[in-house]
Amino acid sequence: MRKLLLVRYGEIFLKGLNRPYFLKALVERVRHATSAYGGNVWLHDGRIFVSDVTDMEACASKIARVFGVHSICFAVEMEKDSFDAICDQSVEMMRDLHGTFRVNARRSDKKYPLDSPKINAEIGERILRRCAQLKVDLHHPDHILAVEIRDFCYLYVRIIPGSGGMPVGTNGKAMLLLSGGIDSPVAGYLIAKRGVKISAVHFHSYPYTSDRAKEKVLDLARILSEYACGIKVYIVPFTEIQMQIHEKCPEEYSTLIMRRFMMRIAQNCAELDRAQALITGESIGQVASQTMEALQTTNAVVSLPVFRPLIGSDKSDIIEIAEKIGTFETSSLPYEDCCTVFTPRHPVTRPKPDRVAAAESVLDAEELISKAMAGIEIVQV
Ligand code: ATP
Ligand code: MG
Repeated sequence: MRKLLLVRYGEIFLKGLNRPYFLKALVERVRHATSAYGGNVWLHDGRIFVSDVTDMEACASKIARVFGVHSICFAVEMEKDSFDAICDQSVEMMRDLHGTFRVNARRSDKKYPLDSPKINAEIGERILRRCAQLKVDLHHPDHILAVEIRDFCYLYVRIIPGSGGMPVGTNGKAMLLLSGGIDSPVAGYLIAKRGVKISAVHFHSYPYTSDRAKEKVLDLARILSEYACGIKVYIVPFTEIQMQIHEKCPEEYSTLIMRRFMMRIAQNCAELDRAQALITGESIGQVASQTMEALQTTNAVVSLPVFRPLIGSDKSDIIEIAEKIGTFETSSLPYEDCCTVFTPRHPVTRPKPDRVAAAESVLDAEELISKAMAGIEIVQV
């Protein structure tokens, strides 16, 4: 008999002929997540098994962050030939629990002498006899004892939820525009959850924004990289561009023009990085630069698809996710962002694309962009 983790996967089930590809990626991700705890990871019979790790609890919470994992069961594996021993172990696992329970048997070994209803009845009865504090409730039990009869017998009561989604790397790669705010890390998380490998680009305006502001963004990237399996961050010097916009362009268009430069440079970084799309944390109407017209104006300068997973989300919903994934606290640190430098007093909210283009035309965009690209610093987190 031994204790192990039984990892269940979610949506990959739906993948017909491609399933082996997704499963291979998922096993690799689980193996990577468990590597600090030693042990063995293998795929068998529709489950991923993790055994002999140094710290079961810590290892399970790491695996819970792997996209593609539906849930993790704390299981006991034993020989299936002694049904008495299985019953004793079941009682052992239920002994300290209170309230109501149900036994849920599943037999993938159809030659096993007892069928599932018989297993449920036998084990349930033994538990009732020896754990006086427990009652049966078939419909809404407090605890479910799962009994899986496979090559071995697996028993488990405790299950923790995984992150859902698809294994990172199975659905291409995208470039996240990562600010120090609350929204963009959440946007990156949601797209990574769909199996997309993420790189990030951050614009900083030293000395108007401090080194601590840059560190904050790298900290956010580090938290994200726990889910996204490592992130390459492109840090772009943006001061010169902002100064020129401030000096030469009409104030009410300055934020929009700045955002257009961000999008163009992000697209260049995506090309360098072979990313197939851009990701932003924008949400309709959140600020002046996120009205329909403003979004159209910034979208117009890039040809890659732009993913905005938060487009229909309220700030409170976004904060809820940020808290759950652990980015909220860092995002809330009060360091300045380049967007807050030279903020116009009255930004246009319904820009006309040709007016913005005209306002921008006094700048040598090509020259400014190639200078910024030449100053990029790359940090792997
Ligand atoms: P966030 O909380 O993500 O900062 P926000 O509500 O402050 O969002 P804006 O400042 O208008 O919104 O930025 C909109 C989006 O533009 C951000 O979600 C992010 O994707 C991108 N962005 C803004 N500032 C930067 C930056 N300094 N570097 C990289 N991307 C940025
Ligand atoms: Mg911001």
